[in-house]
Amino acid sequence: MAKSKKCKVGKSVKEVAKLKINRCDKSPLCPAKKVCPLDAITQKRRGFLNLFADYPEIDPSKCMGCGVCVDACARGCMRPWCDLYETDRHEKQE
Ligand code: SF4
Ligand code: SF4
Repeated sequence: MAKSKKCKVGKSVKEVAKLKINRCDKSPLCPAKKVCPLDAITQKRRGFLNLFADYPEIDPSKCMGCGVCVDACARGCMRPWCDLYETDRHEKQE
């Protein structure tokens, strides 16, 4: 079930995890991916024998905002993200 909380504008919204890409080392063993209870984080493999990985991707339709991945990433790449902030930002930019 999606975790809801009040965001800045006072509405109850679903919170999802988001990747802070500039800190991510693209480890093929990504601990954040491994601990996600809903398999919401995936990583494409590439290179010789698929030894390398791309940045992890979070499926917002699966993520319930539990925060387990936030604690699992030692580089602080995973952070909670209120999806309404993003929606608002996109609407303002258009
Ligand atoms: S654990 Fe963190 S830094 Fe490592 S691949 Fe996963 S998200 Fe990136
Ligand atoms: S917040 Fe929870 S459900 Fe969402 S990606 Fe992280 S571990 Fe998975």
